[in-house]
Amino acid sequence: PEKVDILGVKFNNYSLKGYKNEISRRLDNKKSTFIVTANPEIVMAANENPIFMKLINQDADFVTADGIGIIKAANILNKPISERVTGYDLFTWLLDVANQRKKRVYFIGAKEEVISDLGKRIQSEYPNIEVAGLRNGYFKDKLDIIARDITKTKPDMIFAALGYPKQEQLLDILRKKELPAVMMGVGGSFDVFSG
Ligand code: UDP
Repeated sequence: PEKVDILGVKFNNYSLKGYKNEISRRLDNKKSTFIVTANPEIVMAANENPIFMKLINQDADFVTADGIGIIKAANILNKPISERVTGYDLFTWLLDVANQRKKRVYFIGAKEEVISDLGKRIQSEYPNIEVAGLRNGYFKDKLDIIARDITKTKPDMIFAALGYPKQEQLLDILRKKELPAVMMGVGGSFDVFSG
């Protein structure tokens, strides 16, 4: 399906099922895959930051409509988007996939307490996931250094909960290096998942 432009951000137009099919196929083929779940705040931020806009439009493999506001805007523009697909939807689905297929997953972001709780919950509820790494989101190192550390752990999936645009900037570094992983910024999802 054709992309839909909302205030300069080019959204993919798949249903949740469509995204699952596409992402699953890329995971099987070990294709570097960078997903941006764009909510209205991200669209506004991209409009104020041309580098962020370029990163989303040129580097992301999938840009999902994360928010009813995006769906409504698309309807008003007469270019309907099939459905809202949130970071949390894809996050919980990808955890199931990782568990079923025994994948290595790296988690970065949120406060130490949150990420360590998340680690425990993953271990008990998704016992077949190999945790490649758990790191809180309050580091002082440059993103390049963090990206190098992540690469060394050879993850199949990476979830970054650092808030935008930092989480996308980190994943963009890894996408440009063609790291063969499915990577997604998940905003506040670690807090929700652990809380
Ligand atoms: N966060 C982080 N490092 C930072 C800033 C934020 O790890 O330097 C985490 C924060 O703890 C939270 C997540 O990023 O778990 C999302 O933060 P926020 O709700 O501010 O971002 P948004 O969901 O609006 O992108």
